[in-house]
Amino acid sequence: MHEITVIGGGFAGLTAAITAAESGARVSLYEAHHTLGGRARTGEGPYRTNDGPHALYNRGPHWTWLKQRGLLGPLAPLSPLEGARFRFRRDGALRRTPPLGMLRLARRPAGSAPVDSDFLTWATTVAGERAARAAAHYMGVALFHHDPGSLSAAFVQERLRRATALPPEAHYPRGGWGQVVERMAARAWDLGVRVETTSRVDALPEGHGPVIVATTLDAARRLLGDDSLRWTSGRTTLVDLALRTRRGDAFVVSDLDAPGWLERFTAQDPSLAPAGEQLVQGQLPVGPDGSKADGSAHAEALLDLGFPGWRERTVWRREALANGRTGAVDLPGTTWRDRPAIDRGDGVYLAGDQVAAPGLLSEVSFNSALEAASLALRGSSHTAARNRLDVKRA
Ligand SMILES: Cc1cc2nc3c(=O)[nH]c(=O)nc-3n(C[C@H](O)[C@H](O)[C@H](O)COP(=O)(O)OP(=O)(O)OC[C@H]3O[C@@H](n4cnc5c(N)ncnc54)[C@H](O)[C@@H]3O)c2cc1C
Repeated sequence: MHEITVIGGGFAGLTAAITAAESGARVSLYEAHHTLGGRARTGEGPYRTNDGPHALYNRGPHWTWLKQRGLLGPLAPLSPLEGARFRFRRDGALRRTPPLGMLRLARRPAGSAPVDSDFLTWATTVAGERAARAAAHYMGVALFHHDPGSLSAAFVQERLRRATALPPEAHYPRGGWGQVVERMAARAWDLGVRVETTSRVDALPEGHGPVIVATTLDAARRLLGDDSLRWTSGRTTLVDLALRTRRGDAFVVSDLDAPGWLERFTAQDPSLAPAGEQLVQGQLPVGPDGSKADGSAHAEALLDLGFPGWRERTVWRREALANGRTGAVDLPGTTWRDRPAIDRGDGVYLAGDQVAAPGLLSEVSFNSALEAASLALRGSSHTAARNRLDVKRA
């Protein structure tokens, strides 16, 4: 029987553990935190905030995989009435529609955008500067970067198409991503995966078998002592707010003047906050020298526009700065293939959202986890065959 070790119990680690166990491997998973889920955790208490992911994109590979295993669970539907409260900040004012040129740009195939050019330069030549800037700022929603226009045109265009698809690709697991994590953990348990929480791994054991390192790339760099494990990511202020309900609040405020996004998640899932309250979560990208307070001030400007009287209605508020925790972004001249490789040699494999795998956000974690599990299973077969040979020779 194959023996595989997984370090990290987030979305990537759980995916890898389930995949390996489904193939008959004996899997041990070690998680530093006292609960599983990593960034896909949902807060406990009256406000069910997601630390990281909110949206599950239904054209992503993880959607089908979760569905086939009955792990998708119920989704929170968005009523047309709430959906109609989607707003854009444009030229300082709140509007119902983005510039038409931005929508036309979004329909262009991802393959038409070059890898080597930055998005703003390319998009300006095909749609004009106004539409190009609006589209770049809109993409703050999925890139968490202060200057999406400076990233590879091919990278941004692929995500722009998906983030503006109709019908929308984004769906929301009812009760938050934590519910998906719980179902995945139960599946791992059923398959016999040995899970140890509150169990930080500081070094790989001597003579280890196949190991999947499914931590953040920063943690993998420290664990493996490999300074090459680096890739660009975003930096963004996260603002969580509970407001007393007022009819007519916006559902989304997407800033087209600068990257920034507020979303009232109770619009689709009222179970995320107590009755009579609304949960608003925002992310406001800041540059390398920007502070959490800069993002916070940006959030307040958007709240003033979309949530009248929000200051008097606030019953709870929390802020954080997410630095390098929002997945990989590709600079001009690079694609996902240039990111740190999954196979590190010597039976060590990387999984996570900043490694060499395609997809949007958590899909990178998912795709890399499947690949890492399949390489680890193969690696484990080779080790077993070698051991059998050694026994015969002896
Ligand atoms: C604000 C924000 C919004 C996002 N929105 C979306 C979204 O809407 N849709 C989407 O698809 N994705 C979204 N993402 C991305 C998504 O959260 C991540 O891609 C995904 O959760 C990463 O999962 P992971 O398992 O690769 O990493 P993590 O979730 O970081 O898991 C790594 C795990 O490893 C553990 N660990 C670390 N070091 C050790 C060690 N030495 N020993 C043992 N355990 C260790 C950690 O405790 C952690 O549990 C968002 C992210 C952020 C931050």
